[in-house]
Amino acid sequence: MRFDTRLIHAGDPVDSATGAVNPPIYLSSTFVQRAPGVDRGFVYGRTGNPTRAVLERTLSALEGGRRGLAFSSGLGALATLLEDLPSGARIVANDDLYGGTWRLFDHHARQFGLQVEFLDLTVADRLSTALERAPAHLVYVETPTNPMMRLVDLEAVARIARRFGSRLVVDNTFASPALQRPIERGADLVLHSTTKYLGGHSDLIGGALVARSRRWGERLAWLQNAVGAVPSPVDCFLALRGIRTLGVRMRAHEASARAVAEVLESSRKVRATYYPGLPSHPQHRLARRQMDGFGGMVSAELIGGAGGARRFLRKLRFFALAESLGGVESLVEHPASMTHLSVPAEIRRQRGITEGLVRLSCGIEDPADLADDVRRALVQV
Ligand SMILES: *Cc1c(COP(=O)(O)O)cnc(C)c1O
Repeated sequence: MRFDTRLIHAGDPVDSATGAVNPPIYLSSTFVQRAPGVDRGFVYGRTGNPTRAVLERTLSALEGGRRGLAFSSGLGALATLLEDLPSGARIVANDDLYGGTWRLFDHHARQFGLQVEFLDLTVADRLSTALERAPAHLVYVETPTNPMMRLVDLEAVARIARRFGSRLVVDNTFASPALQRPIERGADLVLHSTTKYLGGHSDLIGGALVARSRRWGERLAWLQNAVGAVPSPVDCFLALRGIRTLGVRMRAHEASARAVAEVLESSRKVRATYYPGLPSHPQHRLARRQMDGFGGMVSAELIGGAGGARRFLRKLRFFALAESLGGVESLVEHPASMTHLSVPAEIRRQRGITEGLVRLSCGIEDPADLADDVRRALVQV
């Protein structure tokens, strides 16, 4: 089954009881048993729910894993994963991570002795050096990174992690499985904020884990029930509803992002444009090899620092000023004062998150309208 067909059919969504083409939203906290301990596959809503089961099968099929698990948020998925680590465990992570992931790692470091080493893994060999120095339970990677849109070579990193006996976890939120399937490249676990592209309509908060092995998947399913950060059946339905159009949406997001990136790159008001689809992107060839498209996220550093960025943001008409990404509507944000405010200023500077940097989540409006919008706003910078 090719990917766009999997989006519609892989989770086997047709309701076997009624033939409904969409899975019913099973709003039931508990399930009647035929006799004590004899159930029909469902016992209690935290442990399992039929609507959630369709979503979990779908997620697993899209990522090419053996077990999918749905959570109440992306960070709920991460918190459950961290419950699987022994105290004093070590993680090697790339240094350009989602702020909430960084915050939860930092909390576990202070509270439970988790050791996290942050590295620039855009150069994969740095991982060998770090793992030679000390083994790690997990290697934790995001690619493309947020907001600098740099790439990590998944096959190279997976090879090194395997050699040193570490499991590779990839946060695939930015690319979505439509553009990148890390398990096919050697990853052991994929994490998602389904809040973003998978949901796709800015109407839910959700997360997911997909495991390559059934064994780790079952262990994480045990933890999913033990910890309890599970999504409501309504949110599972919304995620499934969004997933059906993921393929067409990602193609539309990319058309928008390409148009916007080209306007930004050709403007004198822009110092640098960060989009893996531009031939000028330093990892454009890796993007072509590892991804089935370049996605809808574009970052750019404007001239004029914070003032320049503020004037640009104020003038945009179709890009709403808001955190989050991946919805049908375009959003824009200022990482230094919004999503990445909690990252210390010195580290922000090292990573290129300057006061003039803006991050655009290009929606599926007409690309020409978005390009015009950006062109008009740049005049004010
Ligand atoms: C939003 C996001 C998360 C966290 O997900 P929530 O659903 O907000 O908890 C994790 N990783 C990335 C890359 C994200 O963009």
